Amino acid sequence: MISFGDFVNGLNDDACCQCGRKVGNNAWLVHLSTSGSVLHPASDADGGRISQGFWPVGRECAKGFDPAVLVKN
Ligand SMILES: [Zn+2]
Repeated sequence: MISFGDFVNGLNDDACCQCGRKVGNNAWLVHLSTSGSVLHPASDADGGRISQGFWPVGRECAKGFDPAVLVKN
């Protein structure tokens, strides 16, 4: 279960940050730092880690994330 401070596999424009596959319109979003670790959705930075904005998570991969880190697109 991926939660705050854990790392995703990679940052991919318009694709899931965990598996790299294209995501549909109903994808979730996760707030990531520049190093690819999960930040709190409401924070600009967390523990000195710099925000890189919100990145998509596909519906299948979202099942492996802590629901608290996911926000609706
Ligand atoms: Zn995925």
